Amino acid sequence: MEKLYEGKAKVLYPEGEDTLRVYFKDEATAFNAQKRGVIPGKGVVNNKVSAALFRYLEAHGIRTHFLKELSDREMEVRRVAILPLEVILRFRAAGSFAKRYGLAEGAPLKAPLVEFSLKNDALGDPLICPEAVLALGLATEAELATLKATTLRVGELLKGFFAERSLELVDFKLEFGKKDGEILLADEISPDTMRLWDTKTGEPMDKDRFRKDLGGVEEAYQEVLRRVLGGA
Ligand code: UDP
Repeated sequence: MEKLYEGKAKVLYPEGEDTLRVYFKDEATAFNAQKRGVIPGKGVVNNKVSAALFRYLEAHGIRTHFLKELSDREMEVRRVAILPLEVILRFRAAGSFAKRYGLAEGAPLKAPLVEFSLKNDALGDPLICPEAVLALGLATEAELATLKATTLRVGELLKGFFAERSLELVDFKLEFGKKDGEILLADEISPDTMRLWDTKTGEPMDKDRFRKDLGGVEEAYQEVLRRVLGGA
């Protein structure tokens, strides 16, 4: 079947008229694709973790593009027009945020923080303030409010979901799409797009193991899948 789009971690194929098939690859990139590698089995983990989380969120009132799992590495989703924004929720300072403000990795925040980045690889996904989103016409004021409120609610739900599985959700990135005027949660939610720390050991169980060459990358992804599917 002809590809519709191939990204760094996923390939999109046309499925039905209003649906797409998403294929999750094992290829991994970091630091705006300057670092590349393969994490064997990652595609299967990310497909299954994303599917489980989309189902969990749907069951708790969040509208998503997810329809069903098609295979170990593939899911069917609704076709949406992806907004050119990455919405990040932070419970603690980590990664680029900790670096930007000179904070220790894991420094606490007074309250969960929502940030927006412009989805543009050539520009390195720069941070963008809500006023610039409005000035550039990337979203309306009502849409921005929906993105922020939905992201905070998703954060609350996922924080609890992972806490029951001895994982601390430190931060994550969401993407949203529009279909018939409605905003749906889209893309993926996986160890590629979240920071998850083991509650007992504090060990990162996500893509930071790849970014920072910590070793045990495959094992960490498998363990996250095991805990997500295994329940509390
Ligand atoms: N993130 C992502 N894609 C991006 C940038 C960030 O999925 O293009 C996720 C990342 O895995 C982390 C959160 O968003 O869970 C916050 O990332 P941060 O801004 O700290 O950037 P990073 O340190 O990952 O470059």
